[in-house]
Amino acid sequence: MQMNKFKDFIDYVENNYLGDIITNTSFKALTTLKIGGKIACYFEPLNLDTLVIAYKYIIENKLPYFIIGNGSNLLASDKNFLLIVISLKKLAKITQINKQLFLVEAGITDNKLSTTLAKMGYTKIEFLSVIPGTLGGAIYMNAGSYQEEIKDILKEVTYLTKEGKLVTKKQSELNFAYRYSDFQKMDVIIVSALIEVTKASIKEYPTEKILTLRKQKRTTQPINMASAGSTFKNNECYEAWKIVDQLGYRGFRVNDAMVSNNHTNYLVNIGNATFNDMINLIEQIKLAAKNNYNIDLKCEWEILN
Ligand SMILES: Cc1cc2nc3c(=O)[nH]c(=O)nc-3n(C[C@H](O)[C@H](O)[C@H](O)COP(=O)(O)OP(=O)(O)OC[C@H]3O[C@@H](n4cnc5c(N)ncnc54)[C@H](O)[C@@H]3O)c2cc1C
Repeated sequence: MQMNKFKDFIDYVENNYLGDIITNTSFKALTTLKIGGKIACYFEPLNLDTLVIAYKYIIENKLPYFIIGNGSNLLASDKNFLLIVISLKKLAKITQINKQLFLVEAGITDNKLSTTLAKMGYTKIEFLSVIPGTLGGAIYMNAGSYQEEIKDILKEVTYLTKEGKLVTKKQSELNFAYRYSDFQKMDVIIVSALIEVTKASIKEYPTEKILTLRKQKRTTQPINMASAGSTFKNNECYEAWKIVDQLGYRGFRVNDAMVSNNHTNYLVNIGNATFNDMINLIEQIKLAAKNNYNIDLKCEWEILN
């Protein structure tokens, strides 16, 4: 019964040219951690109009769905998911509004956004070049690096509601905090954002800064291994990597789930780690932090189970 509903959705998308569909894929293929079971189908709408039409169909037919960015902050279970995974990858336009404001679609990668504006001589955007996600995912997570966060350059965010409405909210209305935005409890699709950047006094400065940040990231974090970035949230009282390190977990493994030797807040998949391996490793570290330091480590990743 449920499978027929997905088949009908696929026919609807194909008959109305709403975008691309892939049926034979999985969270393993769609996430940077390379873990996770098969999904019913993966859908990339062609543009905002076709997203609105398809989303209306999904809501009216009560089809389960999940919005994915670049899958760089996700740990998914190995079971099969009866889900439509929606990706906004084709919604990646940057439109200049005035000297400092840009309207940017949410499916653009952080790196593309950062390097495009940096090449035009804009600064305050360089930190995004080292985050391997999309703008939508960065807003949802309030992603940040090197003391800067996406909230610092956001003026407004536009999202699509389940009622099919496009709503625009100011940055100040979205309660951004460390790795938090209200989108984490809203169940909407972020479709675009108004970004404010400033011109650097020396045109080459932003692109040079990107090279410096990338080098710094490469030398301090295992960015070429399968991971979802930092695993545990920092806190004003501690840095998570230090806690994991002091507990003696550097290099520790549960099968192919491993604490990186290079950066102890990176839990990496060194081959065929399963969801359970990774959860087991996370839980062991949390328990040790609680028992030894009375610290409740919080996982930064989105866990789909
Ligand atoms: C090697 C590596 C380095 C990293 N370094 C950093 C870093 O320096 N700083 C940092 O903050 N993070 C870092 N991360 C984590 C990750 O890249 C960020 O959290 C990123 O912002 C996630 O974006 P994404 O597009 O991949 O989102 P996904 O992982 O695909 O999704 C994350 C959440 O956002 C939601 N979401 C995504 N797009 C939308 C949308 N359009 N509308 C509504 N909801 C949406 C998803 O449903 C999900 O709940 C790193 C990850 C890796 C693998």
